[in-house]
Amino acid sequence: MEYCKNCQRLVEGPICKFCRNTKLRAPLDADFCMVAELPYFEAEMLKELFGDNGIPCTERSVLGAGITVNLGANLDRVRLYVPYDRYAFAKELFDSYFNGTEPTDEPEGEAEEAPRKAEIGRVYRHFKGGLYRVEGVAKHSETLEEYVVYRKLYDDGSLWVRPAEMFLSPVDREKYPNAMQTYRFEAVEEQDAETPDSVD
Ligand SMILES: [Zn+2]
Repeated sequence: MEYCKNCQRLVEGPICKFCRNTKLRAPLDADFCMVAELPYFEAEMLKELFGDNGIPCTERSVLGAGITVNLGANLDRVRLYVPYDRYAFAKELFDSYFNGTEPTDEPEGEAEEAPRKAEIGRVYRHFKGGLYRVEGVAKHSETLEEYVVYRKLYDDGSLWVRPAEMFLSPVDREKYPNAMQTYRFEAVEEQDAETPDSVD
């Protein structure tokens, strides 16, 4: 992947397909790269999710400020940009956000019926947006109750435990009517996100 400075996008070389720029270069960590273009309201939600995960983000109206005023914010589309060194993580959050909320025509599959279970090594998203990896499932020595042991994938990377039943439970809708996912923790799909390591 190369970086087009004009478009602030990661593109396949040697020519930017968006602006025909031929002066592409390898992305630098601090380069802001476009991660998504979304309707205004969804962009606001994604921005909040990035914020919760400590990803700096800038935005730009697709139509330009003058036109935005005339149409009203809800008709506008917004492009979000994050620094290249956070791009893969931001993309993963973006993809998981859409997996959780994008309406589909597909009927509910039978796969949904399987009992939920915390998978060791898998990354889960808390309904408030933070990502965690399940490190193990432990038994309480006195009650034999099962606990999920999981690690925060941001900030201090600390280790937490929570009763498995609670870990796998739905979000409390009364307390959090605007939660963006059904369950308290939902497994994040493994995306083919480009890793920043692939810079050469
Ligand atoms: Zn370009």
